[in-house]
Amino acid sequence: MDVPKGAPDTKIVPALLAWYRREGRALPWRAPPGKLQDPYKVWLSEIMLQQTTVKAVTPRFIDFLRRWPDVDALGKAALGDVLAAWAGLGYYARARNLHACARAVSETHGGRFPDTEAGLRALPGIGAYTAAAIAAIAFGRRASPVDGNIERVLARLFAVEMPLPAAKPQIKALAERLTPAEHAGDFAQALMDLGAMVCTPRRPACGRCPVRPDCRGVAAGLADLLPYKAAKAERPTRRGAAFVAIREDGTVLLRERPPKGLLGGMLETPSTPWDERQPKEAAEVHAPLIADWTCVPGIVTHTFTHFHLELTVYRAEVGRDAKLTPAADPARCRWVAQRDLAHAALPSVMRKVLAHASGEVRATSKSRGARKRASAGPQRARRRSA
Ligand code: SF4
Repeated sequence: MDVPKGAPDTKIVPALLAWYRREGRALPWRAPPGKLQDPYKVWLSEIMLQQTTVKAVTPRFIDFLRRWPDVDALGKAALGDVLAAWAGLGYYARARNLHACARAVSETHGGRFPDTEAGLRALPGIGAYTAAAIAAIAFGRRASPVDGNIERVLARLFAVEMPLPAAKPQIKALAERLTPAEHAGDFAQALMDLGAMVCTPRRPACGRCPVRPDCRGVAAGLADLLPYKAAKAERPTRRGAAFVAIREDGTVLLRERPPKGLLGGMLETPSTPWDERQPKEAAEVHAPLIADWTCVPGIVTHTFTHFHLELTVYRAEVGRDAKLTPAADPARCRWVAQRDLAHAALPSVMRKVLAHASGEVRATSKSRGARKRASAGPQRARRRSA
């Protein structure tokens, strides 16, 4: 492996630790520099931070701690409550794993997290990065968590010119060589903070960087160009239709998604499958009940990791005697009062669908391939399911 030899590691580590003691961020899940942190707080914050920003995570972390102050309490919580509390943090599979992990720690490990990377990695939802972060920050192990921020800092610091992702093993090896035996947790958090506050993706603030004298990226004139990245394949666009049925008692028809897969176990408005075809015929087949469906103008868009989604939304108001069709998969459906929607386990994309159907957000955007085709007015059509 091509790891730069003779890198000036000896100055980098003390410079970063001193900077972290002076300027590191005070965050609700952190202990002061030099102290170990409660593994529950490290684990919870790291799982949340994999998906969103410190600013978005902070109130949610505080709310989780208030509701479930330790891993035993979280393990005993109802999964639906955890999923609902997670809404808006994305990737619900992680919330399911969070709950499964809390249960495993509580039931199998007596409420104590394992204190080694290998032990931590055996738990649900804990990968290499999270295991290393917990081992270093909570247990003081010499472990080297490397996420996107730390990759960027190290690629610049050592002028790694191999593009990502091929450079990952090289950067991981650099991190492991650099990590000190003492204060590995502070060192990891110093790298995290440097990446967030100084060595930012665009226009790194090299003038106030504690390791600038030893930065090979700066010396090579590459600081703001690194890390190089291999071109990504373009995300495909999938399409579908979502049906928002509102009963005369004010309830909304929702359906539980299958437990495994994308948005597993979350609620949705009954929808067609999502694929790369236009949903017109599928909408006829998949309507969840016989009703006078109105196509709401505009398209709801959402981007997942591997694809863009465009949803056409149909809306209908129905009586109390409305009968679900087999296409609805009635066993997974329920009528939910609108006042309860705020706390329901609805993913962001379904909240967009409901807002769109209610007129809160009109014509979010138009189809990528069909901006010119999109209708300017409501289309009414009697849709009968098969
Ligand atoms: Fe990043 Fe600049 Fe510091 Fe190098 S000197 S680590 S490029 S902020």
